Amino acid sequence: MAQPKYTTHPGMVDILPDDARKWQYVEQLIHREAKIFNLEEIRTPIMEQTELIVRGLGQLTDIVSKEIFSFSRGDDHYVLRPELTAPVVRAYVEHHLEQRGGSQKLYYIGPMFRAERPQKGRQRQFHQFGIEVLGTDDAVADVEVIAFMIHIYNTIGITNTTLKLNSIGDPESRESYKKALKAHLKPNFESLSEVSKKRYDKNPLRILDSKEEEDQPFIESAPVITDYLSEGSIEHYRKVKQYLDDLKIPYEEDPYLVRGMDYYTETAFELISPDLGSQDALAGGGRYDLLVEEIGGQPTPAVGFAAGMERLMIACEELGITLGENKKVDVYIVTLGDQARKWGVKKLPELRNKGISATMDYKGRSMKAQMKDANRENARYTIIVGDNELTEGTFTFRDMAESEEHSLTFEQILARFTPAV
Ligand code: AMP
Repeated sequence: MAQPKYTTHPGMVDILPDDARKWQYVEQLIHREAKIFNLEEIRTPIMEQTELIVRGLGQLTDIVSKEIFSFSRGDDHYVLRPELTAPVVRAYVEHHLEQRGGSQKLYYIGPMFRAERPQKGRQRQFHQFGIEVLGTDDAVADVEVIAFMIHIYNTIGITNTTLKLNSIGDPESRESYKKALKAHLKPNFESLSEVSKKRYDKNPLRILDSKEEEDQPFIESAPVITDYLSEGSIEHYRKVKQYLDDLKIPYEEDPYLVRGMDYYTETAFELISPDLGSQDALAGGGRYDLLVEEIGGQPTPAVGFAAGMERLMIACEELGITLGENKKVDVYIVTLGDQARKWGVKKLPELRNKGISATMDYKGRSMKAQMKDANRENARYTIIVGDNELTEGTFTFRDMAESEEHSLTFEQILARFTPAV
């Protein structure tokens, strides 16, 4: 085959029909389960103001410093959204969602954009689903968020996962930890990677997230944040663990787990799968009690997670999990001659109006070719129509799987599908 002239950009992926069916299945499952968890959907624009994302995520994060797709039109500076927590918080503040009363329990599904180096499980346009619960600092909310995340994977059949858990505390806890961490790193400052050197002063916690080889010995021997938590943070973390125990949700504590954005406080978590290879994080999240205020709202504690759809799909493939059904259509009308085609065109809507999926040949092909096409379309039934059938008013109704045929009127055919297809 000739090389196509136009192709997708690196890291941008077409979701073709055979995959889109699987995506639809997972999306419908998420919508259904979200309803059961009393979550409401929120949809925000693909583009946001650059300032929101820089402010929200933090100047020194990988995302903001290296991975943003941005452009300007006149004086307006846009980014393609790299994640949805900051945009959801923006919407919460902009539309005064707190006035709806209670905590806002929101979920979303949609595309995100990060200019990362593409590889398996890492794309430049990828998709996340996630939830954001705004307006409560109760540990119950943290655990509900985690429970929903795990519930989705379990419902799909991805059960071989590890929940990693940490607390990065309140600002006071982090301040005293930062001091201890810097004191630990200082004697080896010159041996740190260039990125970590840059982070040393402004955001030393992010050094713990470094993947650079030369940083690893210093990370492994670093003090742990859980030794520096304030009373309040210890208590919050204790409650989260208690509720997880009560729900029999297993977790592994990882005192070096820090997440990729600066807005996190207190609880931080990640869901890891051994079936994913090097990009092993299925999902991650945590509390962000200061973000709403940071971007101009009233102080509002909040917690959420984001999960990668592509990685969920990869895990399913690795585990041999079938998502949804193969393509199929209830009825294929096989027509012989012009009158039969006219009849077919008129009967398609009558079938569809009854919820019966239906199609017919678009090309005026031979009966043999149409039967072949019906098989390719995975039709459950064919209705075979020619001049004789039109005169007599009865049609050959063929069950394709059973290879069984009946001569029926159109009304009798419709009756076969009721009450349920
Ligand atoms: P984050 O928003 O960075 O916390 O990521 C949450 C989840 O989104 C990760 O655990 C991944 O499953 C997924 N994810 C993040 N970045 C990418 C990417 N570039 N390509 C595919 N999935 C991603």
